[in-house]
Amino acid sequence: MSSILIKNCRLINPKTKYDAITDIYIENEFIIKIDTKIEINADETFDASGLIATPGLMDIHAHVVPELIPICVTPDEAGVTTGVTTVCDAGSLGWENFKDGRRSLEGKYITDVFHFVHFAPEGEKSLPEIDYERIDYEKLDLVIENNKNSIVGIKVRAVENALLFKPYNIFKVAAEVAHKHKIPLMIHLGAHVLKEMTAQEVYEKTSEILSYLERGDILTHAFTPHPGGIINNEKPVSGLEDALLRGVLLDLCPGKGHLDFVELKKAVDLGFKPDLFGTDIISLRKEEQFLTPHFYSISIIASKLMTFGFTLMEVIQMATENVAGAINRSTKYGSVEVGKLADITLLKLYNEQCIFHDGASGNMINGEVLLSPKFTIKKGGISKVNTTYSNHRVDPKSFEMLMSQRKGR
Ligand SMILES: [Zn+2]
Repeated sequence: MSSILIKNCRLINPKTKYDAITDIYIENEFIIKIDTKIEINADETFDASGLIATPGLMDIHAHVVPELIPICVTPDEAGVTTGVTTVCDAGSLGWENFKDGRRSLEGKYITDVFHFVHFAPEGEKSLPEIDYERIDYEKLDLVIENNKNSIVGIKVRAVENALLFKPYNIFKVAAEVAHKHKIPLMIHLGAHVLKEMTAQEVYEKTSEILSYLERGDILTHAFTPHPGGIINNEKPVSGLEDALLRGVLLDLCPGKGHLDFVELKKAVDLGFKPDLFGTDIISLRKEEQFLTPHFYSISIIASKLMTFGFTLMEVIQMATENVAGAINRSTKYGSVEVGKLADITLLKLYNEQCIFHDGASGNMINGEVLLSPKFTIKKGGISKVNTTYSNHRVDPKSFEMLMSQRKGR
């Protein structure tokens, strides 16, 4: 048995609308007691004075199968070392290479990994995805059925080759399969390379795809600068409002090139707000790696969102309770309550001038709040967050240099 006593943290727990200084007692990876003063002899007592405790941050859109898929980082590189306790791999693996990919992760990492399995057989091994014609419904069903503990959804990207694919309607069929298994379909919006389609045609496809979606399905990169996002020419694409009323979720997921602050502002002003935000973390080229935390830290994205008027409680909710709900894991994840998994992130809130950028679109904004992850509590242990994440500051000069070299992806 192992036990941890966290003293004097400011617990912010969106699900119970809790925001107060408290102690938390953990035994064998579960939360046993939350009280203003707990006196007990624990294996480890941790003084968290001055720190905010939140449910372990969750990343709904990461890429974390490095042994099979070249773009990926490891689960812990996306997870506990950045202040995140659970990651969802968003379609790196397809139904055909799922078993091998999942096996390559088993028992190696502290961070929990769930998967949106890709509708293309080999997932995002090559981009754009290939071999959609090799669909095998029996095998796909079996993979989902046999991996209910780890597969939480299906992923498809609304990019040109999938949108123009003729043998069957990928989006309609993927939605049918997802709904049959009662798991969400995650659609990547934003087609950044167009050869045969016009931007207008892509927006029309987005509307068509929306008509297939049901409650809990997810639009990832919803505020993309590329054609196919939710706002076309200052107006929501047709079908958006109805889809949101049905309960379709908007995932901000900025990545390095999937967020435009101008698009986000437009959408927020029109009343369309993100429900979720993942990172889309991938492995960057060596010369860009200094920017990894700025693009791919849940805490930095939360700080960016706070400059758009979202409260601390709201941004934490988007990265915890809402993710747990979206992947149907609310019984154990996403909330610091007695009986739940003791996944906790300890953060420090700095009130200071800071500069944020949105990646490929090249827009910068000034913020006054920076949320920095310091420690992660996961699987009964406390680990320190990597200093490039916990002490991250942006140097505007290096950003400008990078952007002049290359447009992000
Ligand atoms: Zn992605």
